[in-house]
Amino acid sequence: MRKVYYFDNNATTQVDKRVLKEMEYFLKNNYANPSSIYKIAQEARGAIEKAREQVAKLLNAEPEEIIFTSGGTESNNTVIKGIALALKDKGKHIITTQIEHHAVLNPCKFLEIQGYDVTYLTVDGYGMIDLKELKNSIRKDTILISIIFANNEIGTIQNIEEIGKIARKYNIYFHTDAVQAVGKIPIDVKRLNIDFLSLSGHKLYGPKGIGALYSKKGVKFISLLHGGEHEKHRRAGTENVAGIVGLGKACEIALNEMEKEAIKIKKLKEKLENFLRSYFKDIKINGHPSETLYNTLNFSLPDVNSQDILILLDQYGFCASAGSACSAGIPEPSHVLKAIKLPEKYLKGTIRISLGKFNTEKEINKFIEIFPDIIRKLKNDKS
Ligand SMILES: *Cc1c(COP(=O)(O)O)cnc(C)c1O
Repeated sequence: MRKVYYFDNNATTQVDKRVLKEMEYFLKNNYANPSSIYKIAQEARGAIEKAREQVAKLLNAEPEEIIFTSGGTESNNTVIKGIALALKDKGKHIITTQIEHHAVLNPCKFLEIQGYDVTYLTVDGYGMIDLKELKNSIRKDTILISIIFANNEIGTIQNIEEIGKIARKYNIYFHTDAVQAVGKIPIDVKRLNIDFLSLSGHKLYGPKGIGALYSKKGVKFISLLHGGEHEKHRRAGTENVAGIVGLGKACEIALNEMEKEAIKIKKLKEKLENFLRSYFKDIKINGHPSETLYNTLNFSLPDVNSQDILILLDQYGFCASAGSACSAGIPEPSHVLKAIKLPEKYLKGTIRISLGKFNTEKEINKFIEIFPDIIRKLKNDKS
């Protein structure tokens, strides 16, 4: 494979070699079904329970509050549909935001078709919800508040602590899609009054197809999958042992190293951002100035098309994104950029760079070297 400059860490991340090493044994050597009774099955069972502790520790949760799923999408669907079904006699109103990932928006849209009522909170120009609007949206029949922790496109981090307090005060379950936050910033589900939290392995240097749902002790929901007794009846299906072991290791590494990695990644982003701001006078940096993910840089340039930029970047080996990975290729501007009311002239020229722990200063320098030429070329082609 040729040199790749991977600047798309919010789409997915490279698996950490230490994660891969732990997984290998459960793919090559011990392939037992953890539900069987023999010794090697017990060893696989033990590895799952160790991983459960590792995930729980990263969130300050209890191991029995962690349910393994196939990823962020499944965790979100489990909570949203599972609470909707469990509490349908109490009410059919859900509160979420306009800037959720599709893995929250689309289960909500599905529920609307089934007769549920969903409020999509607006956000300001930085991507922040208004806590007063949240309070005013709460009704007698509200059963769930689901709000993204940190936005995958623009990086804005919501005031989760205050949202948790409001949910607690009105006695409504609070779910947060924390796929982009887990492994990047410290999270304490107890302190933040979170009832449900979704996370995904491949966003924190673990494998794809594995994730977890934190579900607070005592909170009942209807399972998405019905089958065997796995995960204490909360998620049926033979466990993805290697994936679970990998996710556990990824969480352990994140707990030990994220503070150190954050400092490094933040510096790289600052260097890139400072360069872009000084070189392109008409640039717009999207997202919140302070409450934002330190790895995410979303910016817009007028009079250029992000798809054209991405194609030229790719020729140099740079991987970046126009909006969220799911909407790449579709010319329609992303729902997040619309929600922050990005002015028309910027909508088409938006690029998301999301850095990770494997990026280096050399790579940033290379980007700085080639990027102005790319923009110059595109503007010349046009005129
Ligand atoms: C990636 C992502 C998801 C989906 O997770 P998968 O594990 O890929 O299903 C959900 N929410 C956010 C915010 C994400 O970034």
